[in-house]
Amino acid sequence: MRCPVCEGTDLIKRGWKSGHQRYVCRACGRYCTDSQPKFSAQTKAMAIEMYMNSMGIRAIGRVLGASPAAVLKWIAKEHAVLQDKLAHAAPLDTGAAGVIEMDEIYTYIQKNGSER
Ligand SMILES: [Zn+2]
Repeated sequence: MRCPVCEGTDLIKRGWKSGHQRYVCRACGRYCTDSQPKFSAQTKAMAIEMYMNSMGIRAIGRVLGASPAAVLKWIAKEHAVLQDKLAHAAPLDTGAAGVIEMDEIYTYIQKNGSER
């Protein structure tokens, strides 16, 4: 159990909210519950994958049984993470294409490494 805001693990039980144990985070003072997210990280990853393959938000939602609003939220979150990664990465601002290239370079290095 982690605080969804600050990732802190120092949570104290503080009552109930709609049938779920409610906690308060000692680090940031925010409240959260132990309710499971409706969709798994895997489902969200699939949504991102489909989005990357030019599938529409509504189509993704239909396939995964999620609302277009939910799909849009996952993509927006992923986008923010990517932006953050790029901002902290070396001055190589090529977006998604850069990620694919990095993967290819890694495979190339692995192949070369085994030949040595
Ligand atoms: Zn916290």
